[in-house]
Amino acid sequence: MKRVNYVIANWKMNGLRSHRKLYNSINKHLVSKKSNKPNVIICPPHTLIHTFALEKKSKVKLGAQDAHQHNSGAFTGCISSEMIKDLGAEYVIIGHSERRQYFNESTQLIADKIKTAHKHNLKVILCIGELKSEIKNRKKVLRNQLKSLPVNPNHKNIIIAYEPVWAIGTGLTPSLLEINEIHSSIRSILKSKLDFSKKVSILYGGSVNRKNAKEILSLENVDGALVGGASLKISEFSKIIDYS
Ligand code: PEP
Repeated sequence: MKRVNYVIANWKMNGLRSHRKLYNSINKHLVSKKSNKPNVIICPPHTLIHTFALEKKSKVKLGAQDAHQHNSGAFTGCISSEMIKDLGAEYVIIGHSERRQYFNESTQLIADKIKTAHKHNLKVILCIGELKSEIKNRKKVLRNQLKSLPVNPNHKNIIIAYEPVWAIGTGLTPSLLEINEIHSSIRSILKSKLDFSKKVSILYGGSVNRKNAKEILSLENVDGALVGGASLKISEFSKIIDYS
């Protein structure tokens, strides 16, 4: 089954207006490849989305790193899905482990955020992954996190990113065999939830870099990567794109 391949950059809380240079370099790299594969999505801080969206004929797609569960209202400091769409982004990351960890985001809250994002026609990149202490119960943890998916979600507006929390920013990754097996069990869980489970792209995230990308991205059950630290360096990120 052919699935869409994605390479997604999560810039986290990094990026000033001068990062337009990096955005343009990534776009230049894609143009030079003369291919529309993979789909490259940059998720910069909210403050940069509009600046990047104004770049004409860009091959890079844009996403946000989070969106509030409500459409609008008295929620000081928050950004809604409607605003993100209005800025020119097509995607939004929901449920990143840093949001779960530092902002206590629950499965129910994440479910609400996904619902609102879909209402505003944003495609959702749902992050799931276990803590180091949960490795033994990984399948149960992932199954619970996947409960935030809406009833029978559409494969066209959901991307799953499996990101073991202990692999994020640590230089550690599960073995290739483990990654392949975990992705396969995620797909089995999805099978019980949606009609087109075979078509949902499941990406790997957690310390992907130019050295390990080739092997990880060539795994049968891996449909791309969500990249944090390495997405802020063109030398690293362009290689990851080339391997996907
Ligand atoms: C992330 O936080 O989504 C991530 C994948 O980070 P890193 O690549 O830096 O581990």
